[in-house]
Amino acid sequence: MLRKGIFKKPNNRLEDSQVTEQASSPSVPESMYVRCDACRATMLRDDLQANALVCTHCGYHLRMGARQRIVHLTDEGSFREMHGELVSRNLIDFPGYDEKLRSSREVSGENEAVITGIATIAGNPCCVFAMEPNFMMGSMGSVVGEKITRLFEYARQECLPVVGCTVSGGARMQEGILSLMQMAKTSGAVKWHSEAGGLYIALLTDPTTGGVTASFAMEADIILAEPGALIAFAGPRVIEQTIKQKLPQGFQRAEFLQENGFVDLVVERGQQKEIIARLLTLHALEVKAK
Ligand SMILES: [Zn+2]
Repeated sequence: MLRKGIFKKPNNRLEDSQVTEQASSPSVPESMYVRCDACRATMLRDDLQANALVCTHCGYHLRMGARQRIVHLTDEGSFREMHGELVSRNLIDFPGYDEKLRSSREVSGENEAVITGIATIAGNPCCVFAMEPNFMMGSMGSVVGEKITRLFEYARQECLPVVGCTVSGGARMQEGILSLMQMAKTSGAVKWHSEAGGLYIALLTDPTTGGVTASFAMEADIILAEPGALIAFAGPRVIEQTIKQKLPQGFQRAEFLQENGFVDLVVERGQQKEIIARLLTLHALEVKAK
């Protein structure tokens, strides 16, 4: 005889009390573990850090802070920061911007959304910048634009290559037109550096969008990108609504852009330093031969 409800989960007080007991028992602090955004696997924070924030299960590249990015790419102890004292001001009295700046400084521990300086990569001296995702998602205001510009001007003056890592939501709307003009200003500095024969290598990471994509991110001599990174000007929904067409699979991802010639090479995090070092060495040899 078939008993109804045989497959139902037993519901008795004993089971309930067990669950309660487990929940209230001392547990391992949650912060020791991190969940992968892509495959949802849980792993030890230390294991993830040792793997340069690349998921040990599926290879997903988790977001990396600017300082960690610099440590990952440059020779140990070689980085010297420049213009770290520059801070943004609420020049157009945008509502809530002062508070946003304060909380971003607290959360990221940084003064602004980009860190710039000089370093060596496998012994090659270069200028370096890395954008900070925890500071207003790396948005470009007047200070970000100024720091990037000064870095390229310094690189031109000192005949140094520039290696830059981008992550950005685009221009910082809280600064209005002042943020938009940073696109022209940084582009001018990149061009000036390029005309003097300087090499510029960009590493685009997830996400690189808006005014940063439309300026210095896509103006490098060699454009590298992290696997799966979203690289776009406008978001896919905006484009679909404008052109009234469905976009192809993987549109605006690093691999799609490589296939279509906008990105030179998609490089896994573990290989990035080696590839960049090789490019810098080749360039230095070429400069010497001239
Ligand atoms: Zn994963």
